[in-house]
Amino acid sequence: MMAVAVITGASRGIGAAVAEKLAHEGHDVVINCAASVEKAEAVAEKCRAYGVRAVAKAWDVADFAACDRALKEIKEELGVVGILVNNAGITRDGLLVRMSEEQFDDVIRINLKGAFNMLRLCGAMMLRAKAGRIVNISSVSGIAGNAGQVNYAASKAGLIGMTKSAAKELGSRGITVNAVAPGFIETDMTDALPEEVREGAKKQIALGRFGKPEEIANVVAFLASDAAAYVTGQVIVTDGGMGI
Ligand code: NAP
Repeated sequence: MMAVAVITGASRGIGAAVAEKLAHEGHDVVINCAASVEKAEAVAEKCRAYGVRAVAKAWDVADFAACDRALKEIKEELGVVGILVNNAGITRDGLLVRMSEEQFDDVIRINLKGAFNMLRLCGAMMLRAKAGRIVNISSVSGIAGNAGQVNYAASKAGLIGMTKSAAKELGSRGITVNAVAPGFIETDMTDALPEEVREGAKKQIALGRFGKPEEIANVVAFLASDAAAYVTGQVIVTDGGMGI
């Protein structure tokens, strides 16, 4: 069934690929970003080429009131949200004993509380509609941990707990909630890492290469589809065999 899909952090990287994939499948899409409105508008333009409605909208997912305002506008403009992809995320890496309170708080605020804000508001909408698909973008760091990412790994592990709890609460109304845990995907986030970290990571990957944003988008699209109606509360690791 075609739905209105909201994808947070969709101006670039994985979120942009998810928006394009869902548009390609015929869903109307809302492309959220923090600040890069022009990039988000360019993604929306590509999505419209598939004949769907696509809207670019900037708001801070960590701000509950801003999420509430945005979702009211979306409901007015496009209708009830049927698919939510909580993808917006940041890194502020550093070793534990050197990590500032600000580095910790920023990552938890955007990655974890941001997802809660959207889940809380869209969940209420979906409960009334008795339908919905929610996909949270976690990370292998949230499962295995990663040196230099105490804040990020905590946020991504938190998302897994949130996914499973929400799946239990919303399941009886036909709403599924799942997580995707990507490994090393080529985006601005991983481009920023030093070359030795990138090469070290590649050696751990069974498939011997980094993933592409489209390869995460394919898994998200499956979880958002009718074909995944009996899948909920799961974490789909999509890492080219990095964790095996
Ligand atoms: P990216 O290229 O750095 O893009 C991040 C996106 O999040 C941008 O669209 C950005 O908007 C948006 N964003 C940041 N803060 C926001 C806020 N407060 N409110 C709304 N939007 C915000 O990231 P990516 O690599 O595609 O990662 C996407 C997701 O996958 C993240 O949750 C990340 O943790 C997760 N992930 C990535 C990898 C990987 O290897 N890349 C691996 C595992 C998990 P602006 O453009 O306006 O800044």
